[in-house]
Amino acid sequence: MRLRFAPSPTGYLHIGNARTALFNYLLAKKHQGRFILRIEDTDIARSKKEFEAGIIEDLRWLGLNWDEGPDKGGDFGPYRQSERLKTYQEFAEKLLKENKAYHCYCTKEELDQRNKELLARKESPRYDNRCRNLSDEQKKKYLEEGRKPVIRFKIPEKTIEVNDLIRGKVSFDTKLMGDFIIMKSDGKPAFNFAVVVDDILMRITTVIRGEDHLSNTPRHIMLFEALNSKIPEFAHMAMTMGPDGSRLSKRHGATSIREYRKLGMLPEALFNYLALLGWGSKKDQEIFTKEELIKEFSLERCKEGAAIFDPEKLTWMNGLYIRKKKPQELAKLSIPYLEEKGLREKEDYLIKVIALERERIKKLSEIPDLIEYFLVEKIKFSPEALLLSKKPEVKEILTSLKQELENLSDFSAASLEKIIREWTKNNGLKTKDVFHPLRVAITGRTIGPGLFETMEVLGKEKVIQRLMEVLC
Ligand code: GLU
Repeated sequence: MRLRFAPSPTGYLHIGNARTALFNYLLAKKHQGRFILRIEDTDIARSKKEFEAGIIEDLRWLGLNWDEGPDKGGDFGPYRQSERLKTYQEFAEKLLKENKAYHCYCTKEELDQRNKELLARKESPRYDNRCRNLSDEQKKKYLEEGRKPVIRFKIPEKTIEVNDLIRGKVSFDTKLMGDFIIMKSDGKPAFNFAVVVDDILMRITTVIRGEDHLSNTPRHIMLFEALNSKIPEFAHMAMTMGPDGSRLSKRHGATSIREYRKLGMLPEALFNYLALLGWGSKKDQEIFTKEELIKEFSLERCKEGAAIFDPEKLTWMNGLYIRKKKPQELAKLSIPYLEEKGLREKEDYLIKVIALERERIKKLSEIPDLIEYFLVEKIKFSPEALLLSKKPEVKEILTSLKQELENLSDFSAASLEKIIREWTKNNGLKTKDVFHPLRVAITGRTIGPGLFETMEVLGKEKVIQRLMEVLC
């Protein structure tokens, strides 16, 4: 099996496109086939090198490694459409020769005017095929007028059936379509033509793409037939929607892989989450390794209905993956986020801190705020914590506890717990009257990981110093 992901580099990798790439990747790997990356950059005005590099970087980060592509080469390249222009011209020539295509000299203004008239008659706009049978004389006249022709494909009159692997049989009546452009007047191929020529030459066996391309598929099928080529299998996936059921867009917040990467999603979490966007396992399982997904994935279990992208669920899943990571690894991953906030720390201390806070991290970008109080010289107090630290009775308790702690040589969590519990009891106090203010004084917060573990990691010096600051 040979499958491809064919992004147009007109923006960064969108969640919906990443899902398309992932499904193609999973099916290719499941069948020990090839996964191909093809850059569809024939729209010169909108395509940018920067986006191509960004898409490649994000796909790699996600772990969607391709077997053939513009950066890697392969036996069926080049894998960038802008480098294949001659091939498209040759294929168009062949269709012209076989009388399956023709030059059309209509201007944009003429076409617009005719479409307007169709609309006024409540008919859908389409080309009326009027240049199909021009005489040589007419062609000559048009050329003399300086018109630059496009090449249109001559649509045969018939019903085209798409046997979609997800949606079943979908029929299209070609009577409702006008002959469509395959080559533009500037010698560049139209999207529909380039896709087919490439799919033929790259020997693509299965095309998985968004439902928005379904209406193009009958045109593609006609071109495959006209070029006497084997038609690949098609699977059109339902579009990705936002939580409100409308098409996923900027209105819903972050929509690109890049943005989620920046927020601190782990690639394995995003990989897992994207697989659930429109596909479900037999067992209702939700957490999968890459290998499990490759094994389990099938188009039969892809849903026909829209897939809802739920950032909250993604965040939840990311938290699960974060908890599975070793503190060493998380510490490394947190460094760019800490540096962005001007925070730096020695690695072994950072690892201890992260090990303590790991349970509460859902995104890497939350790490600086979560652990800041371990790293800074002077802690900030949350408003609620500030009030508590100012109460006179709290000050009294902490003053005397501080003396106790100053004499302590073993500052391990176990020793701290033993001493502080005993001290509380001996002074006729309740644990909450001691533990809570103590936490507030040394962290500036009312909640956090285990108090004694926190104290151990902070160390005696910092704990005493923070108590002194609250007490003065
Ligand atoms: N370049 C197209 C897109 O980005 C994909 C075409 C296809 O998959 O056939 O939507």
